[in-house]
Amino acid sequence: MDIELMIQKAEKCVQQFDKKHNEIIEHNSKKVLDAFIKCNVGNQHLGHSSGYGYDDIARDKLEELYATVFDAEAALVRQQIISGTHAITLALSGNLNPGEELVYLGTPYDTLQTVIGHNNNLPGTLSKAGIKYREFDLDYENFQINDILSFISAETKIIAIQRSRGYSWRNSLTIEMLEKLITPIKEKFPDKIIFVDNCYGEMTDKLEPTNIGADLIAGSLIKNLGSGLVPNGGYVVGKEELVENAAYKLTVPGCGREVGASITDNRPYYEALFLSPMIVGEALKGAVFAASMLEQIGFEVSPAPTAKRADIIQAINMKNSENLIAFCQGIQSNSPIDSYALPMPSPMPGYDCDIIMAAGSFIQGSTIELSADAPLREPFTAYMQGGLNYYHVKYAIINTIKDMYAKGLI
Ligand SMILES: *Cc1c(COP(=O)(O)O)cnc(C)c1O
Repeated sequence: MDIELMIQKAEKCVQQFDKKHNEIIEHNSKKVLDAFIKCNVGNQHLGHSSGYGYDDIARDKLEELYATVFDAEAALVRQQIISGTHAITLALSGNLNPGEELVYLGTPYDTLQTVIGHNNNLPGTLSKAGIKYREFDLDYENFQINDILSFISAETKIIAIQRSRGYSWRNSLTIEMLEKLITPIKEKFPDKIIFVDNCYGEMTDKLEPTNIGADLIAGSLIKNLGSGLVPNGGYVVGKEELVENAAYKLTVPGCGREVGASITDNRPYYEALFLSPMIVGEALKGAVFAASMLEQIGFEVSPAPTAKRADIIQAINMKNSENLIAFCQGIQSNSPIDSYALPMPSPMPGYDCDIIMAAGSFIQGSTIELSADAPLREPFTAYMQGGLNYYHVKYAIINTIKDMYAKGLI
């Protein structure tokens, strides 16, 4: 194994990727700065509040800023939203009444399947609230739009699409593909709501789903838009009425967005959004480097090193559990926090097999920071994402590969 030669090749891939992607970083950096200026964000907006949170100008301005960045009517950006799953659940449950139907194009992310409740008997699911559910078996490469249009029924209220691959071996939906889905659906069904799970997709392209017809989107603030700085939270962005309905679920009917104090300073929320085009770029470059290095060793990777990327996830088929565990342990031991911890596969709620997670991050569970997760099952796929600094990812991958080589695994 000539690791120096491999590094040279991988860096060429990164340069090739950069040539196209730098334009997106520049475009999005300008978009975000313009939004800050247009919204007149001032020092008075960076603080926190208490109690009910009436007239919390920091929170209200942050929501105005998010709406502006996403070119949408309204936004709900809250510390009380505990995760991406929570944000998505608010968007869906706030806009679905008993008897109405949710249609998912493709299989939803694991935790959302639990929320929808078609495969469990938990209290509080959409299912238990009388919401109907059907799933369209979406071919991500080559879908037949007419099949989708005829799948949608009179009862369908929301059509939901997941932008990112999540933790499955499929292509992410690029903005172009999303547009090919959304435009004809909107033409035939202008009154139905198009919802996009935007997790992991933010700032990977010049446009966001709201620019191409999505009515409502949601995501996590410890992923792309958190830049490793935001301590917690989630967002829902879209049409005024739909966002207000989500806010009624988060707080209470009648109060909606008017309440909910910013318990901690809003400064990192603003700063993270400002930096996110660049940080997402760093993570993407890291993913390109990792894909090239691991592909050169002989592992199957998705996406391919220089392919167009629509999210920050890099899937790597590690062939067996020993490689998978060694890879995740290598990422952990090259992390700024908890480098001394040795991650081991263990059971996790909601999964039918053990999971191993490498997360040496400043913010617990933050996946815009370098991290890797994997279910211990065939085909032993590792999902690596994040990296606040390309050189951190590069160094971590090189060291991990060297360790695996020394152990005789590769
Ligand atoms: C991460 C993720 C979620 C859920 O977000 P959490 O913050 O982990 O609850 C939902 N959908 C997709 C595609 C994701 O990547």
